[in-house]
Amino acid sequence: MKSDTSKQLFDRGMKVLVEGCSSASRGPMNYAPYPAYIREGKGARLWDVDDNEYIDWQLSFGCLPLGHAHPAIVDIVQEKVMGGTHFATALEVEVEAAELIVEMLPHVDKVRFANTGTEACMTGVRMARGITGKRKVLKFEGHYHGWYDGLLVSTNPQAVTTLGHPNDPVRIPDSSGLTPGSLEDTLVCVWNDADALERMLKTHGHEIACVVMEGAMSNMGVIPPKPGYLKQVQEMCRAYDVLFYLDETVTGFRVAPGGAAELYDLQPDIVTFGKALGQGFPVAAIAGPDHIMESIEYGKVLHYGSHNAPRLGLYAAKTMLEEMRRDNNAGWTKINAIGEEMTTRLNQVARDTGQNMRVQNVGSMFHPVFTDLDEITGYRDFCGHVNLAKYGEFSKLMREQGVFFTGNKILHNLSCTAHTQADIDRTIEAAGNALEQMSR
Ligand code: PLP
Repeated sequence: MKSDTSKQLFDRGMKVLVEGCSSASRGPMNYAPYPAYIREGKGARLWDVDDNEYIDWQLSFGCLPLGHAHPAIVDIVQEKVMGGTHFATALEVEVEAAELIVEMLPHVDKVRFANTGTEACMTGVRMARGITGKRKVLKFEGHYHGWYDGLLVSTNPQAVTTLGHPNDPVRIPDSSGLTPGSLEDTLVCVWNDADALERMLKTHGHEIACVVMEGAMSNMGVIPPKPGYLKQVQEMCRAYDVLFYLDETVTGFRVAPGGAAELYDLQPDIVTFGKALGQGFPVAAIAGPDHIMESIEYGKVLHYGSHNAPRLGLYAAKTMLEEMRRDNNAGWTKINAIGEEMTTRLNQVARDTGQNMRVQNVGSMFHPVFTDLDEITGYRDFCGHVNLAKYGEFSKLMREQGVFFTGNKILHNLSCTAHTQADIDRTIEAAGNALEQMSR
């Protein structure tokens, strides 16, 4: 595979960009010795600047349920861009997109649009504090909610030095530059363990504004909740008078039309969306029932942003939802079926080649890990039993065969409506080759 042009861009990029690009996740840390610079995407395909073609399973970290350059998205964006890009005023499409979302989500009365998941989560936490008057937030080991100071704790297995006792996990800051003050009000709990949460709520419930979590872990591979666990969390939150905040930045409009809340039959107090919602444009949202959302009315709990409700992004979001909902939500049926097939067949290839690779999924999100365990149920399994270097090697061998599996060792891969049976078959064949090569 040729990579001369990427190499040249990397050399130029290193002189003017940190790590040659704009996020550590995209640079040499995950794509050694240098990343492929991507030129364009169409459907489920990517091309890099050296004309290498890839089947894309990274899909912009989950931002593209319809794949790249879907004709309906291209049409609407081309039409609307002629009328201007951004007005920072109220918009017709803002009302229309919110109406669609409210129609789709029974637990949501109102929506407030933002740009990124991080901003949305920052606002969600501020709302919880504003509404309850309580200071602390309880999050879970291995759950990532963006790079906001107050939630950037215990998210990275590579940074782990000590985990502490499961009843009292240690808060591990995931960045330098965080003040002790910003972490003081963040409590960390073990996930998928109802007893651990009950203990925390018994002791700290009076000072906790919200319990915030992903509906399925998506930043430590893919780890589904144990059956009934999320319902127990919701009940406990109600019993201890703590808001239940479901961060659906990844799972929203992906694992089901109504996200993890629909999949696991939940009625969260606060929800946040991002990623899939914008279909490749930066669109995020904070949403919930009226009595929660009224907290941001007139800046009581402040939520501002020059780029909130981006016009073109909202046209893309609305069009994506309309496309995915066609024929009784056929879009979600398709991407979830592909996710299931990828999971089953990758697991089969692992067995056939004698490699200890295990693939877990929730619908269209799936991820291979190399482990001695039969199942990964949480952060502690991931920290202690997953060989991240082996996934790095596997994903590199896949990309060298024209299959773009994410190089980020703790993230996940995903399907979109543009993936075909031939894409799946070719990917499985490439996985067989990669695992054979790793066995030699
Ligand atoms: N919440 C979750 C669950 C995420 O996975 C992410 C990003 O990966 C975020 C929030 C932050 O979203 P963004 O990268 O758009 O700021």
